[in-house]
Amino acid sequence: MSTIKMAALGSIIFLSFTNSYAIDEKETIMEGLPEHLIYLYTQESFTGNEPNHQDQLVVRERRWEPNRVLKVCMFGGNPRIATLIRSVAGEWNGVSSVSFDFGPLPGGYNCLVSQAGFYQVRVGFSERGYWSVLGRDSESRLDPLVPSMNLEGFNRVYSEARYPSGDIVSKAVAYDKAIIRHEFGHALGLLHEHQNPSLKCQDEIIWQGKGNVYEYFAGPPNHWSASQVQRNLGFIQDTDPDYQQGQPDPRSIMMYSLPENIFKNGKSSKCYVAVNYNISNKDKQIIASIYPTISQTQVAQLSADEQSKIKALPLSMAYSESKDIRHRILADLESNDDYVRRDARVRLTNYLQSDPKADVSSLVQQMQVASYRYKLGVAVALAKSSGKINLDTQTRENLAKLAMRERDSTLKANLESAVK
Ligand SMILES: [Zn+2]
Repeated sequence: MSTIKMAALGSIIFLSFTNSYAIDEKETIMEGLPEHLIYLYTQESFTGNEPNHQDQLVVRERRWEPNRVLKVCMFGGNPRIATLIRSVAGEWNGVSSVSFDFGPLPGGYNCLVSQAGFYQVRVGFSERGYWSVLGRDSESRLDPLVPSMNLEGFNRVYSEARYPSGDIVSKAVAYDKAIIRHEFGHALGLLHEHQNPSLKCQDEIIWQGKGNVYEYFAGPPNHWSASQVQRNLGFIQDTDPDYQQGQPDPRSIMMYSLPENIFKNGKSSKCYVAVNYNISNKDKQIIASIYPTISQTQVAQLSADEQSKIKALPLSMAYSESKDIRHRILADLESNDDYVRRDARVRLTNYLQSDPKADVSSLVQQMQVASYRYKLGVAVALAKSSGKINLDTQTRENLAKLAMRERDSTLKANLESAVK
């Protein structure tokens, strides 16, 4: 069995290998935190930990809403890796009311193509290591056009050159498939199970003296600092304060096989486990319980506490200045998915208020001939931006005319607010 060095860096995990299955050459992946993700470790105002009866360890504030369909795209994908991801990560589909949409066959969604709007899970292959952000962090805390997950080199390993024919899923390395299952577990909001406080793995680790964990991970290939070790193996409340905990599941796909050397009792430690390759029954149960199947009518009837978990993107989400942002927002305004349209209205508001070059007049001109969804989206964003952005005289007149003619009360009210 390979020696796996695993690290939970707050919201992000990295794995490195002293052997080589996933990588072309027999190279060792060094641990390294992507610079653009460092800010995710700053602690924000999570509401803390409430008593609960859930199993395992999962984010609370950063989970998706029930009934979401999460679009998955790839940067630099190919039909072979697309098939592998679709099949393996697709094992999470059907487990709960949240599912992944891997896009059209054979190649899936390309993250660089803006026609399909924004993608909730964005798989890259070119950064170091294997990691994924947690749940909605991919939208609320990351630039929407950068990877939210990284599977280093998988697009080179699982390519038509390497696997010209046959069933790629049965041919793929078992551990690589486990990584895919694990990273998509993070995308659904699962945390690392070995950091579940109920397991008390911290009590099992050698923190001081001869052979301590700091020395172990300071060496190659990890080269971790002391604070990285604490972050990776220490107390979850220090890194993910919105965690939700319950009975631990050592069989979880989120539980890693840590090296025996770091445990006081070596292989006898209860936290020393063999590699888990598959999604466990408890993994499925926790996902099913946090994403129950509920109708839209039931959503409307949820308690205030439950409702508070179902919320649009924050206006303070990461804003990208990329040129195709506007194109993607407009595509999402027309989506058949209620949640996507709702979030597109927030994105448009954010865009109008953040980008001094946002061309409001052309957006409004287009309203004369556009769909109801487009008109509502633009009107809501303008209403929310009233007093915060400048409208020229012609644009104001156009909006006022549209408001006068409009019969739909919601749209009319927003158009009226927009010109106030
Ligand atoms: Zn992980």
